[in-house]
Amino acid sequence: MDLYEYQAKELFASHGVPTLPGAVATDPQGAKAVAEELGGPVVIKAQVKTGGRGKAGGVKLAESADEAQTKAEAILGLDIKGHITNKVLVTSASDIAEEYYFSFLLDRANRNFLAMASVEGGMEIEEVAATKPEALAKIAIDPIEGVDQDKAKEIVSAAKFPAEVADQVADVIVKLWETFVAEDATLVEVNPLVKDPEGKVIALDGKVTLDENASFRQAKQEELVDKAAENPLEAKAKEKGLNYVKLDGEVGIIGNGAGLVMSTLDVVAYAGENHGNVKPANFLDIGGGASAEVMAAGLDVILGDQDVKSVFVNVFGGITACDAVANGIVQALKILGDEATKPLIVRLDGNNVDEGRRILAEANHPLVTVVDTMDGAADKAAELAAGA
Ligand code: GDP
Ligand code: MN
Repeated sequence: MDLYEYQAKELFASHGVPTLPGAVATDPQGAKAVAEELGGPVVIKAQVKTGGRGKAGGVKLAESADEAQTKAEAILGLDIKGHITNKVLVTSASDIAEEYYFSFLLDRANRNFLAMASVEGGMEIEEVAATKPEALAKIAIDPIEGVDQDKAKEIVSAAKFPAEVADQVADVIVKLWETFVAEDATLVEVNPLVKDPEGKVIALDGKVTLDENASFRQAKQEELVDKAAENPLEAKAKEKGLNYVKLDGEVGIIGNGAGLVMSTLDVVAYAGENHGNVKPANFLDIGGGASAEVMAAGLDVILGDQDVKSVFVNVFGGITACDAVANGIVQALKILGDEATKPLIVRLDGNNVDEGRRILAEANHPLVTVVDTMDGAADKAAELAAGA
């Protein structure tokens, strides 16, 4: 889960990283009130989960509270790379002497963590990496040893931070590492980390990605979820503990096992080319135990999607055998009753497949068509979606 800048900086502050005071507003009057409270010049910043806000006109300086109101009016509603601005952060402005870059991230390729630092911050780091790779220091972090003062000093000297800020930057780096570990983040990024004219080092921007696999031990982070911005179907699926991602197409997909579901998406997209280019409407992995309740929950989410015209249920019976899955489908359709309205193409294979197919044949549900092969089922599902 990506956080908004204001949330990232609140986390930074709670771990002792220097930031400037501020608060969020959802309308221009609110922005004016925050600016009055803060006093002095402020910066109005679009709160959207994408970078490059500065270039897009989403970051503006205001000398007075009245100006804060006008600037907030200009920024609220702004479309930044497809993200509509519904909130602005109003924060005390700082004069800037120098802009640096710093991040910790999960380095999947090397099964490690990585620190990246540069004294050429402010602009997009991809640009620095591409045009001046020597200006971006990359230091591997041993996950067990982590980052202490000595390691932080090693990073500071690798990135050639000026001597007068070296101690402060090392201190910030240690605290960002504490944030990274304590919050189970996969990314903490500060761009720019600035030196102000008095020589004080401050995090002016913040980007944090939290590892949702750790949410079971991060109860406090629940409140960081932006419920209003969540896709309602994804929210419903999450509530039911389903592994669901909404996509753009028309063919609903249910399968067991992430690998099978991903290949189902490919097969449906391919079959769709012969049927007016229909595409998968979602990813949904119901996992190993395809019980009636889980099947019903999955179908409920998918049938609630206005875009879905047909549903492809693709199950490979393993520990949960095909007869149990078939019973699950039959029970799920009973549970859903009139709410089930779209054709279901079912492909079963694997353990106890004959019994599974027999159960579906016997139930003879008007919405269900059983097709024996994955390609055949994908073609049928695409055909029905195109014809609907
Ligand atoms: P981003 O463009 O989405 O990364 O947003 P940032 O928070 O990084 O802001 C973009 C740029 O606005 C920064 O690189 C700064 O140059 C500038 N900026 C942000 N806050 C301040 C501030 O308090 N004072 C000044 N002078 N400039 C600021
Ligand atoms: Mn930035």
